Amino acid sequence: TRILRVKDPAKLKLEDLPEWGYDGSSTYQAAGGDSDLTLKPVFKTNDPVRGGNAVIVLCEVMHPDGRPHETNHRAKLREVLEKGAAKQDAWFGFEQEYTFFQDKTPLGWPTSGYPAPQGPFYCSVGANVAHGRTIVERHTDACLEAGLLLFGTNAEVMPGQWEFQIGYRGDTSEEVNPLVCSDHLWVARWLLHRIAEDQGVEVSFANKPIKGDWNGAGMHTNFSTSDIRDKKKGMGAIENAIAALANKHEEHIAIYGAGLAERLTGDHETCNIEQFRHGVADRGASIRIPIHVSQNGYGYLEDRRPGANANPYEVCAKILMSVCGID
Ligand code: ADP
Ligand code: MN
Ligand code: MN
Ligand code: MN
Repeated sequence: TRILRVKDPAKLKLEDLPEWGYDGSSTYQAAGGDSDLTLKPVFKTNDPVRGGNAVIVLCEVMHPDGRPHETNHRAKLREVLEKGAAKQDAWFGFEQEYTFFQDKTPLGWPTSGYPAPQGPFYCSVGANVAHGRTIVERHTDACLEAGLLLFGTNAEVMPGQWEFQIGYRGDTSEEVNPLVCSDHLWVARWLLHRIAEDQGVEVSFANKPIKGDWNGAGMHTNFSTSDIRDKKKGMGAIENAIAALANKHEEHIAIYGAGLAERLTGDHETCNIEQFRHGVADRGASIRIPIHVSQNGYGYLEDRRPGANANPYEVCAKILMSVCGID
């Protein structure tokens, strides 16, 4: 948290915000002898937690000489866009799944043993099945107050697990380019941790928080290019995109999140990590073509492989590199 003296807070612009710095050795991003790293403001929005004139500022991490730090995947996504992907005017929509934990067990689970098998929890209502609604609703309000592209929320298949979506909401006047959607997802994740913290609840983005016959947590990534959305070119562009993604399956899997093999088993609405399959309305495929997209012949695709702990900047960059043919 930083306190700034500002003449007219209502008129505060991103450019008015100073760069800041921190100790990169404390975050394993630098050696102790040369540890100063720079925080460069790239996105700001009002802070719904602190309220008043407070703003949340998302920053890129730079070396003091201005080069992006190796861990700065946002800079890599900018580069992919500049290399030609921007021309395809890609839109994104992330489905962020996550699990609430308290005292090392998922919220609402008995302290020993297991809850009833999966079934009554997905999109549920009621204190016996929906655990953590207070946090979910506060998070929803916070995202809306911060002007984030929140699409919706739902209770998930495993008790204590939930989802929110960030991205295209059907309103073409909203900017939903890959940088904006990733920035909004990143801030929405931060807000979720922050709001749950006040309730003494931990948020886990682990891909397989509970081993066994329980659903893992993913970050399904929906995307479209201008060709995929085009009434005439749509179906051809969808086929080309799927072929390009199939070619690079291993490269995608490598950056789609930590512990992904435990989640992509072929069960629990996933495709096995070793396989690449696509299908219409198929939740056991790597790439799902939504039924209305197949009927219309244009629209968008869902990449079901990214895990809940995947980095949205890396995921967007990889999809754009494959689909737009950028090295
Ligand atoms: P699911 O049926 O897989 O659970 P959801 O309803 O949770 O899907 O989420 C749908 C997602 O699709 C949202 O994140 C939304 O932003 C995204 N989406 C819808 N249309 C498009 C589009 N044309 N391009 C990119 N993303 C889209
Ligand atoms: Mn969903
Ligand atoms: Mn889901
Ligand atoms: Mn989905």
